[in-house]
Amino acid sequence: MDNDNSCDLFVIGAGSGGVRAARISAGLGAKVIVAEGLYLGGTCVNVGCVPKKLYVYGSEFGKAFKDAQGFGWTVDGASFNWPTLRDNKTREISRLNSIYDRLLEGSGAQVISGMAKLIDAQTVEVNGTQYHAKKILLATGSWPTKPEFPGSELAITSNEIFDLDTFPQRLLVVGGGYIATEFACIFNGLGAQVTQLYRGDLFMRGFDNDIRTFAAEEIRKTGVDLRFNSNIVSLSRTREGLEAQLTDGSSIVVDEVLCATGRHPNLAGLGLETTAVKLDDRGYVSADAHFQTDEPSIFALGDMTGGPQLTPVAIEQAMAFAQTQFGDAEKVMDYSFIPTAVFCQPNIGTVGLTEEETKARGIEIDVYLSDFKPMKHTLSGRDERTLMKMIVDKSSDRVIGLHMVGPDAGEICQGMAVAMKAGATKADFDSTVGIHPTAAEEFVTMRTARG
Ligand code: FAD
Ligand code: NDP
Repeated sequence: MDNDNSCDLFVIGAGSGGVRAARISAGLGAKVIVAEGLYLGGTCVNVGCVPKKLYVYGSEFGKAFKDAQGFGWTVDGASFNWPTLRDNKTREISRLNSIYDRLLEGSGAQVISGMAKLIDAQTVEVNGTQYHAKKILLATGSWPTKPEFPGSELAITSNEIFDLDTFPQRLLVVGGGYIATEFACIFNGLGAQVTQLYRGDLFMRGFDNDIRTFAAEEIRKTGVDLRFNSNIVSLSRTREGLEAQLTDGSSIVVDEVLCATGRHPNLAGLGLETTAVKLDDRGYVSADAHFQTDEPSIFALGDMTGGPQLTPVAIEQAMAFAQTQFGDAEKVMDYSFIPTAVFCQPNIGTVGLTEEETKARGIEIDVYLSDFKPMKHTLSGRDERTLMKMIVDKSSDRVIGLHMVGPDAGEICQGMAVAMKAGATKADFDSTVGIHPTAAEEFVTMRTARG
């Protein structure tokens, strides 16, 4: 094998985890080759966080125009043009793709465009060429899972929704997790008539129950027809559009059906069967705390390994991987107090334990709650409320859970997460001076625990 075709590290997948691992490893002196089959930057940059957030921004204007009237503004003739938003988004993503290319090349890593396939524990094939690697890092991410039902081929996933030719005036969203809820709100905000179906009693499973209930109320107020204990049975194309039969026997006609029903590890064509890499009982690649799989030369991180499917998690894992393998200190990823936000409208932000988790663990807690109308809406007239919830461990006084539904919840929870990770107690929060007038100051002025 040609020397150019061998390396210290071969990274499969240039997404959130793969790019960071390749760049840091190359910076630490490793000879790195990275193969990407679809798009540099992976899911987050191309069909995930970034275009999603751009669409969230776009979708907030409609409400803002209405809010403005209470502040004396007259906004005449506002209208929305889908191709403008879509194409401006695409231009921005192309710009980011080239930045990722430059970052990788600049770090010294070699980038190959093409799908990679494992040949054995130390050999990878891309575009018919074989590469020998001392170590291989799998970072191939995840892919949308679409349920099987008659006509399911007519439904789209988050991969397609960003680039629709025509704006769907009527949208049916199936699912009650992050993607379903964010896109229901985005398209509602952009002016579509949106119905969201969740198969269980209450959507956003895994979040604090008070937050789930409150978010459902607020999202319904914005106009999303959010239905629980409801699911799609079949889908067919009629002259009026796509007709979905639902579990309650009713039907609904829409322009598009988005299935946002979870994601599975992206392992298609990867050739795992040629190695000793094993999957866990949920089908994710099994790896230890140092991301090593059952095949000692092969490592795996990010969405494909079944931890929290979040970009900052994949990036932190990649940092720990690169420093451990090519740096001078072993680094283990710390999964405590990972903050997260759902960019629905209003946002959900959360750090640490839910009330239900503390109960399951037998932790004695005090709960502080604040439910209020944001100051902005006293003049805008918008019927929207904010909920803030703090959970304190009675024995240590540490703040172990912090949750919010309200504007900028993601921005607020990011800061709170630093304090909580540093071990802040309720007394520390209480002795912190607020910033007035903000919503966030509520977290340092909560004094009475729920009885
Ligand atoms: P990815 O970023 O998916 O990268 C994997 C890469 O591997 C891809 O580019 C793929 O093409 C490539 N690949 C796969 N197989 C091969 C192969 N055989 N050969 C070569 N290349 C291959 N997270 C957040 O933190 N915040 C958000 O707001 C957020 N929003 C999201 C919105 C949506 C709609 C979606 C779908 C996800 C969102 N996420 C968000 C999750 C986030 O995008 C993922 O957690 C993150 O991208 C995972 O990084 P990764 O490196 O594991 O995989
Ligand atoms: P989630 O796991 O968040 O939600 C999947 C939803 O689909 C759940 O409500 C689930 O119901 C439902 N579901 C699953 N199977 C079916 C089915 N057969 N029929 C009907 N409903 C079904 O996955 P997403 O696809 O929304 O997102 C994947 C991951 O991407 C997220 O978990 C998150 O980690 C990441 N992400 C992060 C974002 C952020 O940080 N803001 C934004 C978007 C994605 P049930 O609860 O009953 O299982």
